[in-house]
Amino acid sequence: MDSIFQRISHSAGADHWRLFRVVSAQYNRLTSLLNTLNCTIGAIPVESSLLMRTSVISDDRAVMGIIEPAALSPSPFYLRPESFCIAYTDDPEAASEYRDLLGWIPETSAKNPLEPVSLLWMVLQTEERMAWLDLECQVLRALQALGQPNIEGEPLFVNLGRNLRDLLSPDQIEFQMESPGDFWPGRPAGWTWVECGGREPIRAFVTPRLQRLVYRRERVMFIEDLATASDIQIESATHEQQFRSCILLPLVCGAEPFGTLRLFYRTPLTPLPGDVEALELLRRELSVLMDRGRTHLLMQRMATVDGLTNLFNHRFFLDQARTEFQRALRYQKRMALIMIDIDDFKHYNDTYGHLAGDRVLAETARTIRGVVRDIDFVARYGGEEFALILPEVDAQNGLVVAEKIRASVESLRFISDDGEAVGSITVSCGVTDNAEASAPEDMIKRADDALYWVKRHGRNLVQLASGHHDD
Ligand code: GH3
Ligand code: MG
Ligand code: MG
Repeated sequence: MDSIFQRISHSAGADHWRLFRVVSAQYNRLTSLLNTLNCTIGAIPVESSLLMRTSVISDDRAVMGIIEPAALSPSPFYLRPESFCIAYTDDPEAASEYRDLLGWIPETSAKNPLEPVSLLWMVLQTEERMAWLDLECQVLRALQALGQPNIEGEPLFVNLGRNLRDLLSPDQIEFQMESPGDFWPGRPAGWTWVECGGREPIRAFVTPRLQRLVYRRERVMFIEDLATASDIQIESATHEQQFRSCILLPLVCGAEPFGTLRLFYRTPLTPLPGDVEALELLRRELSVLMDRGRTHLLMQRMATVDGLTNLFNHRFFLDQARTEFQRALRYQKRMALIMIDIDDFKHYNDTYGHLAGDRVLAETARTIRGVVRDIDFVARYGGEEFALILPEVDAQNGLVVAEKIRASVESLRFISDDGEAVGSITVSCGVTDNAEASAPEDMIKRADDALYWVKRHGRNLVQLASGHHDD
């Protein structure tokens, strides 16, 4: 995946220069960007006024001006005072123009410290597309910060929320997701992430009609006055708390909409001409980003999930066992481990066929998942073996869970392909916890030993590993 910065640096054809607003950490990224473009960098830091400080970095091919702090945008999307403003170009003509502009500042600033500010205002305001370039660059910055697709679940939404808050200062952010489970496994359809800066969220109801319209138009939608918008109902709130306006951004990739980003404001919105373009950029980039993230998560899941049973696979189980073992150690918590093996499964296969055997495996997996809690980790350890990690559960309680699983599996009935025969299976379980284990491998060995004790003593039983007996 090419980074936003790489893309910008190669986009000289479309725009001669671009203006970035970046936080200090990204200043370093930009200087290294110039480095990779083979520029010899000369930086001239200039103290120009109390209001702002500028420096110019340039060579024959590129120039970068840094101005901080600044508040250049008259749009509702005000900037934070710690922002920098950086202009960068790889177009020689634009570079010389901009160098002249910024180069002029040090001389005048010596005489009149306020003059550079007004000068920049003037120049930037005469630049017609200034406002949206400004917002666009903030959008790019926010997207760049989001550019790690390998996040899933809550961190993804927290990260999106934080960046959107920095970028657009909404009073409430909502991600309404069509298939939230793609991004946060276990989230039901219709689920919406709400972020409102620690306040009590205010519920907003969007009619299906408006939702369809938003998707169909596939474009950012400003609702400048919520009082007159009949398709959005805001939960009654005190006068000061009431939302006045909102922005709806449909996130769509290909023909498939996967959600709407809703930004609510307590102030009226007066979008500047360029704000629409900037938010369109945000909308499209965010759609692509989330689509990529989803694909990435899907692939990751395929690599960690067993296709037949939908349980985690052996490799991922070992990873998880190590992680959980360390976590339990750190927080001085118990964790139980259960190994389960289907009894005489070879015989079942021989009797009913391999396909029927596969169905038994899938059904047994479903049954185990149904018995345990959501936070318990269930894996297919091998052919007809399953392994479970139960966080914050000790061996005695693990034994209770294992017994529940054993009994549930025993009561399952399987119908053969021809609908004639009815089969059933049993399982044997070995249980241990981390009380006396020095490593996760230790636990697996103990649970396995307990399991094979059961195999030698009649099967269809659960057994605590040695060291856990009440003797
Ligand atoms: P025990 O009670 O001692 O565990 O006997 P068992 O027959 O279950 O154990 P054994 O290890 O001898 O055989 C395991 C069987 O599980 C043999 C294999 O055909 C079957 N098996 C393993 N993976 C799969 C699978 O993916 N699908 C099906 N249908 N059968 C499988
Ligand atoms: Mg086996
Ligand atoms: Mg077996």
